[in-house]
Amino acid sequence: MNNQIPSGGVPFNNNQGMGFNQATMPSPPIPNLQQMNMGNAGNVGNHQVNPHIPSNSMGMSANHLPKQHVPIQNQPMSMNLPNQPMGMNLPNQPMGMPLSNQPMSMPLPPNPINHQMNSPFPPIQPMKMALPNMHQPIGGMPLPNQQMTMPLPDNFANQAIHAPPLPNIPPQLNQMGNNFGSQPMPQLNSMPMQNIPQGFNQPNVMSGNVMAPSSMNNGMGGGMMPNSGMGYNQMNMGIPGNCMNPQMNNNANTSPLDPGRKLDLLSLNNIWETGFGNALPGAPLNVANMHAKGDSRVIRSTIGNVPETRELLKKSRLPFGVALQPFRDLTNLSIIQAHIVRCRHCRTYINPFVKFPDSRRWKCNICFRLNDLPEEFYYNPATKDRGEPSDRPEIKCATIEYIAPSEYMVRPPQPSCYLFVLDVSSNAQKSGYLQEFCEKLILNLGNLPGAKAKNALISFVCVDQYIHLFKFDEKNALPKEFTVVDIDDPFIPDFTGFVVNLEHFYEQVKKFLEVLPKLYEHNHSPSNCLGSALKVAQFLIGSVGGRVSVFQASLPDVGQGALKNRQNSESKISETELLSSANDFYKQFSLDASSAQIGIDLFALGNEYIDLATLTDLPKFSSGETYHISDADMEAFCGKDPRFEKILVRYLTRKIGWEAVLRIRCTQGLAIHTFFGNHFVRSIDLINIPCVSPDMGMGVQLELEEDLNGIDCVCIQTALLYSSATNDRRIRVHTICLPVSNNLIDIYKSFDILPAISLLTKMAAERATHNVELGDCREALINSALDAFTAYNRSVGVQRSCLLAPNTDLKFLPMFILGCLKHYAFAGSNKAVRVDRRVAALQFFTISSLEMIASEVYPVLYDINSILNLDHDIPDPGDRPLKPAPLPLSYGRIGSDEIYLMDAGSRMYLLVGVNPDLNVVNELFGVSSTNQIQDFSIFEENQGKCNQRLFNYIHKIMHKRGQYSLIIVIKQNGNSRHHFVSRLVEDKTESGHSYNEFIKHIHQTMIKNT
Ligand SMILES: [Zn+2]
Repeated sequence: MNNQIPSGGVPFNNNQGMGFNQATMPSPPIPNLQQMNMGNAGNVGNHQVNPHIPSNSMGMSANHLPKQHVPIQNQPMSMNLPNQPMGMNLPNQPMGMPLSNQPMSMPLPPNPINHQMNSPFPPIQPMKMALPNMHQPIGGMPLPNQQMTMPLPDNFANQAIHAPPLPNIPPQLNQMGNNFGSQPMPQLNSMPMQNIPQGFNQPNVMSGNVMAPSSMNNGMGGGMMPNSGMGYNQMNMGIPGNCMNPQMNNNANTSPLDPGRKLDLLSLNNIWETGFGNALPGAPLNVANMHAKGDSRVIRSTIGNVPETRELLKKSRLPFGVALQPFRDLTNLSIIQAHIVRCRHCRTYINPFVKFPDSRRWKCNICFRLNDLPEEFYYNPATKDRGEPSDRPEIKCATIEYIAPSEYMVRPPQPSCYLFVLDVSSNAQKSGYLQEFCEKLILNLGNLPGAKAKNALISFVCVDQYIHLFKFDEKNALPKEFTVVDIDDPFIPDFTGFVVNLEHFYEQVKKFLEVLPKLYEHNHSPSNCLGSALKVAQFLIGSVGGRVSVFQASLPDVGQGALKNRQNSESKISETELLSSANDFYKQFSLDASSAQIGIDLFALGNEYIDLATLTDLPKFSSGETYHISDADMEAFCGKDPRFEKILVRYLTRKIGWEAVLRIRCTQGLAIHTFFGNHFVRSIDLINIPCVSPDMGMGVQLELEEDLNGIDCVCIQTALLYSSATNDRRIRVHTICLPVSNNLIDIYKSFDILPAISLLTKMAAERATHNVELGDCREALINSALDAFTAYNRSVGVQRSCLLAPNTDLKFLPMFILGCLKHYAFAGSNKAVRVDRRVAALQFFTISSLEMIASEVYPVLYDINSILNLDHDIPDPGDRPLKPAPLPLSYGRIGSDEIYLMDAGSRMYLLVGVNPDLNVVNELFGVSSTNQIQDFSIFEENQGKCNQRLFNYIHKIMHKRGQYSLIIVIKQNGNSRHHFVSRLVEDKTESGHSYNEFIKHIHQTMIKNT
C-alpha cells in the first residue's frame, strides 16, 4: 500500500449550495490556478515557514503572497478505494424507501398539549434535513434454505408458560438507625412554577386535607450518620390503607425493597433507606433461552413491563424509551465468525429470545414469522460434535459480535484516519493546550487504534487567520509547512503528503510534534478561520473518511462560517437564541462530513467565548462528542488541572468503530419515535455514525403503534455495523426482551429511574438548543414527575393527604428531577451560567451514558469510612451502589469530624471536615494536620493505605464508566465549600428549592389538578 492518499484537484466550494456528496466525489484533477494561493514553504524545523511570509504570518495580506503553480500529480488511487463514500453494504433492509435526496423531517414528539404521547416536552421547530445520497447497494444477504436433518429435543417445543413472578431483592443495604438528622421545614408556595398543565381528568378523590409530615422533625439534630454495622430499618408494613407511615423499627431481616408497598413521599425522611434498584422481570419461559439477559449497561428500558395497549401506556404517563451505549467497552463479549443467521423476512439476527415452535424452525421475535433453522445449529461450535441450538453462542448470549463476511461490505474496511485541526491563534497560545497535546500525542502515537495494524493515516491542520498544512516526505526529517491565505475560497491543487501513513512516517510525525508548540509560541494572530480549515480537512480525507479532532480556543471570526461574539453583542440577544446556532454552516458541514464517513469531535478549551452553541453542530450531526475544558469556575484552583491530559489520553487510545451504522428493530407494534444524541438519522430506524465511540450514549423514545394484545413479550434489537481498527467488518448485536403487562401497577413497579432520567435530560437538552426556552424545558421536566405521580396516585386511589409512590424507582423521580433543575445545564436564569458552559453541559447530557448522567444529576455521597471499610468489589455503577450506602444529599447529614466523597459525575469532591481523624488524614494526604491540606486542590495518589484503598474504589468507578472525573479536595471551613454545597440537591439554595418543598409542590399541584 502506498503511504499517501491520492491527490486530486477539487476547488473548494464556498458556503453556498454545497451538495452532500460534492466533497466525496473527486472531480478530474484540473487545477484552477487562479485559486492557488498556497505558499510553498521551507522546513518546519528550521522555522522557515515560507521565504515570502514572516513565520507568524502577521501583517501579511494575501496579496503579498506569490502565486505558486504547484504541479499537479495525477496519482492513482493509492488505497484501492472505490469512489463510494460508504464502505458498507447495508444488509438488512426490506428497504422500500429511497434514500436519495428526499427532504426528511426528523420525527418529533407530539405537541404536549394533546397529551397523546408520553413526552412532557414542548415541541421544537421541525428540522428539515436533506438526506445524503449514500450510493449504497441495498439489500439483504440471501439466506440458504436449509433442511433440518435432526429433530429438536423436547424442550424446544412451544411452551405456553408465562413469566415468573417478580422476585424480591434481599436486604443488602447498609444501615441507618433512628438518628435521622432533622431537615428544616420548608417554606411552601415559594416555587414560581405556573401554568403547569392539568395532567388528568378529575379522578375519584378521597376527602381529606394535606397532612403535614409527621416525622420530619424528630429532634435528632443534623449530626453525621453512622452507616455501618447497623440493621436496615424496615418500613412498617402494618399500617392500614394505602399510605405507608414511615415509622421505623429495628427489624433488619425483612426486605426493604418490596415493590408491593406504597410509600408516602411527604412523610418519608430518607428515601434512600427504602432501597434502590428494581427487580426487573425476566424473559418468558417459552423463549429459546429464558436465562439470557440483555446487558443493562448497553441497552436499558425506562419501563421493564411494557404496557399491553396504547391506552395503558398513555394512562401510566411514564416516559417510554431506552438508554443505549451500543459500543461500550465490554469484557465478556462473545465474538464469532460464522454464518450469520437472520430472519429472512425482517432481517433480525437470531437471538436468545426467538422461539422454537418445532424442531426445524425458529420464530422471529420481531416479526413473528417462521424461519428454518440452519443445519449448523445442531453442531456445537466448540466441540464440533452434535449439539443443540441452545449451545450456540447466538442463543446463549444477548450480546454478540459477528465478524462479517464480504457480503457486508462494498469496499475494504476504511483505514484508521486521524486529522487534527489545531487552533494556534494567540488565544490558543494563552490556553497553553498545544504543548500538552503534542506531548500526549507523541506518547500515544503507537496506541492510536489502527497504529498497530499499520494502516493508520494521520494529518495536521493548524489554524489562525490562515490555514497551515504540513507536507511530509521521506527525504526530510520534518514536514514542510504550507499556508493557505485565501481563506474565503481555499484550494489545494496537490495534497500528496498531507495525509500520511503513520507507521511509515512515525519518526517524522514525532519530530514534528516536538517542534510544533515552538513553531507558534509567539503567534500573535488574533483570528481563527475554522470553517475554511474544515473545508480543507474535508478535502484531504473526504475520499477515505476518518476522524477530525478540532481543538478550539477562540471564536472562528474569519473565513467561511465566521461567527460574531453574540454574548457581548450590544443588541440584546435572549438566552434562548444564544443557546441555538447562529448559522447553518457548521450543521451543513457536519452533515456533509457524515455522508463522507467523517466524524468530528470538538475540544473547546480555555475561557474565551467561542460560540459553542454554533460549533457543537459539528459533533452533533456527525456523531462526534464535545469536550469542554475550561477553568472559568475554578478561580481559586490550586495546582495543575489534569482534565485535558486525562481526557485526551482516553480519547486518543480508546477503540473506534469506523463507518458505522446502527439499526434498531422492535417487535411489531412497538416503534421508534425519536432518537436523541449526536448522529444523523438516515431513516426511522437507522442512524449514521462515522466514528462510533465506546463512551457515546444515546436515547431512543419508543411508542406503541398498535396494541400488543396476545403478545407475551417484546424485543428490541440493536445492530451496529462497523469497521474495526484491525480492518475487519463487524456487527455487534444487542437484544433485550421485555414482558408485556396489562397491569398498571406492575408497569409502575418496573419503572427504571436511570434510563428514564437519561432520556428525559436528553429530551430537555435537545429542546434547549433548538429555540425552546429553558423555562419550558424545566417545566417539562417537572411535568414528567407530576404526570407520573398524578397517574399513579389515581391508579391506587388518591388520598389527598399523601403523595404515594410504589417502593420502586418511581419514588426517586422527583429527587432526580430536582437534581436536573439545580444542575447548571437547566438551572434558572437567576443562576449565572456562562453560555458556553451551559451549552457544554447540555451537550454532556446529549451524549453521555446513563451512569454519568445519574451521578451528575444526583451525586452519590459517601462517608469515607464506608469505602475504606469495604471488603469486596463494588457493584456496577450502572446501578446506584448498594454498598457502601449513599448518604442523602443534605448538609444536615454532614458532620464536622468526618471526610466525605461525593461522586458528581464529571467531578468528585473530597470534603474534609474540621476535625477529622488525623490518622486517616495522614493516610489519605500524607500530612499530619488539616492545615497542611490545600483547599480546592487536586486529590493526589500516594502510598498511604487509605489513599490507595480510596483510589482503588475511585478508579473502578471511572474505569467502569470509561470517563475521567476531576477529584477536588474541599475543606469544610474553606472558601471553596460552595462547590460541594451547591451539589447537595436536597437542600434549599438561593435559587433552588429543597426536596421537601419540591415534593410538596408536586403534591399540591396534583391535588389542585384533580
Ligand atoms: Zn423477522
